[in-house]
Amino acid sequence: MIRGVAEESSRSARIEFSEDGGLDRRLRGQRLWQRGGLAPVGLPPGPGDAVLATADGSAPLWIASRRQGQPREEVAAGPDELAPGESLRDQLHAGRFLGLLPLVHFLRRVDGAAGWTSPGLRAAIVFDDPNLRGMSYGYLRFRELVEHAAVHGYHVVMAAIPLDYGFVDRAAVRLFDEHRHQVSLALHGNNHEAFELLRVGSEVQALALVAQSLRRAARFESRTGLEVSRVICAPHEACAAAVLRAALRLGLEAVCLETPLQRRPGIPLLSSPLTGWEPAQLVETGIPILPRYPLAYPFDDVVLRAFLDQPMIVFGHHQDVAGGLGRLEELAGRINRLGKVSWGSLAELARSSFLQRREGRTLLVRIHGRCVRVPIPEGTDRIIVEVPPLDSEPLAGDIVAGGARAAVQATPGEAARACFEGPFRAVETIAWQPPSPVSPAAVPPPPWRAWPIIRRVMTEVRDRSAPFLRA
Ligand SMILES: [Zn+2]
Repeated sequence: MIRGVAEESSRSARIEFSEDGGLDRRLRGQRLWQRGGLAPVGLPPGPGDAVLATADGSAPLWIASRRQGQPREEVAAGPDELAPGESLRDQLHAGRFLGLLPLVHFLRRVDGAAGWTSPGLRAAIVFDDPNLRGMSYGYLRFRELVEHAAVHGYHVVMAAIPLDYGFVDRAAVRLFDEHRHQVSLALHGNNHEAFELLRVGSEVQALALVAQSLRRAARFESRTGLEVSRVICAPHEACAAAVLRAALRLGLEAVCLETPLQRRPGIPLLSSPLTGWEPAQLVETGIPILPRYPLAYPFDDVVLRAFLDQPMIVFGHHQDVAGGLGRLEELAGRINRLGKVSWGSLAELARSSFLQRREGRTLLVRIHGRCVRVPIPEGTDRIIVEVPPLDSEPLAGDIVAGGARAAVQATPGEAARACFEGPFRAVETIAWQPPSPVSPAAVPPPPWRAWPIIRRVMTEVRDRSAPFLRA
């Protein structure tokens, strides 16, 4: 029930969630800002009612009760009509969530165990640009960082530029190897030119760029023994459609981009009302986009991402810790207080991007990753795998599970499904493969140019000298 009078206001309200046991744990005790335009009028709670949220610490605006045995909730605000091109996620983000969040919360409660379950809270803190040419990069001192991560319970991903993979410091490699729970590596473009993944003009160029990035990663891995997640963080948060298609064909597990995707240059316009709602968004011919969020932005959206079962991937640069690691301690503390959090590499986050539902001896798995690792409950005879629909492209390819392969074909807007019969292992790998895979080794390299090296030397000198110039 939506009650109360919404009154125009330009101020922001601080929405305080209670500690009531009926409230989703991820929301309990949170204080999130709701932007102006709506000043909810307080509702009078009746005897036995639970106040789930108040405005500015006093006026109740979300109340739960159980009258005549029926769950009943009253809220002082409701969702707005979707504007043209708007998605539901546009009404559930930092600064604007009050209209929709209680409704989602209520539907989940009614849906209960019959609904889909997620793998739980997952998180990583990503730093763009560092490399392993030394024991530090700008303000990031690696030993201090991994020890801090171990003490405060978080995982750091270094999104490193493949151009830099040729030379490494042995001590840095050893440190990363000994602290795999605290630190991992991911791809950051290929050469890291300005808007590198956006200015790719053709499919051939996109394949050449992504394949070179993957070959550099494979050489780095064989020399160092370290692993690089096959997830590419796009420099300057922009990526052309041709690169997304190339990424899928060349076997990348995901692209990691700041969301909402509608604001990202190059990303095709997505029209589904559920855009950005799922743990990862499949775009173009089916590459998953893992959503990430700037370290400098308010924490509120991290809470809402957790509530939506999305990974909490917070990213920044070495300058973000110029004042010390206290900022990471506070961030990790707030994330860890949301519940039990699995911190890990971007590959681990990509591989846990799925939802599952049990129906008797059948397990339904909806995959939002290329290759997910699914614990299979005992007594499962059958797995039905679903790949969510693409916005405008037909979905085609193979689904692989339990050692079997099934070709799928679905029209735009339709999910692809395949059914697999047991027996199954305790943990199964379920993969989604495109129709025309390409090996990175089979793609010719792009023409050699001096500029990317010159540019990178200049940016690296700038970054590495920053702490000394400041002193
Ligand atoms: Zn960068």
